[in-house]
Amino acid sequence: MVAFSAVTTVLSLRLFLRHEMDANQIASFNNFRDAVVDALYIGDDLGVQSASESLQKSIPELAFAVFLDRGRTGVRLGGLESLERFQKLDPRCAPAQGKEASMLDERRGVEHWRFYCSDIAQANAEGARISGTIFVGFNMNMLEEKVDGVLQRVLPSLVSAMLVILGLGLLAAYLFADKLTRPIRHLTEGAKAIGEGNWDTQIPVESSDELGFLAHEFNLMAMKLRELDQLKDDFVSSVSHELRSPLSAIAGYVELLRSKPLADIAADKRDKALSIIQESTDRLGRFINDILDLAKLKAGQVEVRRSKVDLADLIEDVMALFMPLFEKKEIQAVADVAGALPPVQVDEEKIRQVITNLASNALKFTPSGGRITISAKNQSDFVEVMVQDTGVGIPEEEKEAVFERFRQVKSPHAAVTGQKGTGLGLAIAKGNVEVHGGRIWIESELGKGTRVHFTIPFHSAS
Ligand code: ATP
Ligand code: MG
Repeated sequence: MVAFSAVTTVLSLRLFLRHEMDANQIASFNNFRDAVVDALYIGDDLGVQSASESLQKSIPELAFAVFLDRGRTGVRLGGLESLERFQKLDPRCAPAQGKEASMLDERRGVEHWRFYCSDIAQANAEGARISGTIFVGFNMNMLEEKVDGVLQRVLPSLVSAMLVILGLGLLAAYLFADKLTRPIRHLTEGAKAIGEGNWDTQIPVESSDELGFLAHEFNLMAMKLRELDQLKDDFVSSVSHELRSPLSAIAGYVELLRSKPLADIAADKRDKALSIIQESTDRLGRFINDILDLAKLKAGQVEVRRSKVDLADLIEDVMALFMPLFEKKEIQAVADVAGALPPVQVDEEKIRQVITNLASNALKFTPSGGRITISAKNQSDFVEVMVQDTGVGIPEEEKEAVFERFRQVKSPHAAVTGQKGTGLGLAIAKGNVEVHGGRIWIESELGKGTRVHFTIPFHSAS
């Protein structure tokens, strides 16, 4: 490739130099011709001779520059050297008509000559007529050598320049190709790493084009997968924690009961062991049901069996169920259903579960002497139910989060006594409200109390 370019460049350069050379030869011929015409006009033969000599001096490859005067029977004017060579070479150049010079290329063995000739016919200053032919000859071998010399001198620099250009070209091509393929390479490597479970992988976003967009989407995907993985880990550890404590209680008490004949165990100890085993199995059963409910809600597989339900009755039912517990904890509980509430088309069990969850939270997080109100009111398009307590309250930043599964507020709830929950109640309540097309939210003030609202639309899509 470099060799090919070098050869073409050398050939073009050579052509150019030869062309220049031809132009110079014609210019030299015309100069000599003008000098001869001027000298003859004033009858100055020496002028012709000196023009010939000075041309000879300035152009080493000039063979001769001579004027052959036909008017003066073959008088030849020119420098001494010119005249001698003219005599020897005896050029056969035939002048053409008009001012244009004729040219004749002649090869004699290894010698190569070029002759130019042209006739002149004019009157001199005294009116006498002058006619003759101007001959100028060049030694083409010398000129060729000169051209070759020039080419030989420039060739090494030319090749080095070309090598440099080629090197730079290759480097630019490599850098360009690398720039083009780098994002694709990063994408492939990143996708592979993400596929292998390295979700911390971040693919560099190097451009704002489609590839940059793809890299950005990959990073988002990796982040989502990371979060999902974390959620899965949290879920597994929460579930195993919730299973472990009742199971170890059961195992412990069963072991106690089997450690000696039943008759040898004190009746109160036996009863305590059995009631703890029962409590634990209830707790496990409830937990497993909650997990299954949540899984169904999450997968959108819950069946909503709607029937006409009177919410006031439902609230009264739940109140009645909780009343002994409220009384035990000395909590004042009120059901407040304003006016006549039209019946709603809902899955009674699911809405009962929501109100029960909210009532059990209110009970759990309200100290003795507090007050709990469950109210419902008609809001034209929907019914709004509210469970209000005067309990410990929920910090502002946790009001949304408590609807996530297993989410429990640490402080000040740590001080709350009684049976510990699993943090699934509100997540299930939210799911149940949402399958009815409603909304659930919390208003709360720490230390003052909490209001959990939920709505049930009269005309819901599901
Ligand atoms: P579970 O309901 O599964 O038995 P839980 O009651 O802890 O357990 P959620 O009902 O989901 O779980 O409630 C989540 C958390 O929100 C609670 O642990 C508690 O920290 C906070 N919370 C819920 N209701 C109240 C309330 N009325 N007052 C203060 N904090 C509440
Ligand atoms: Mg709860």
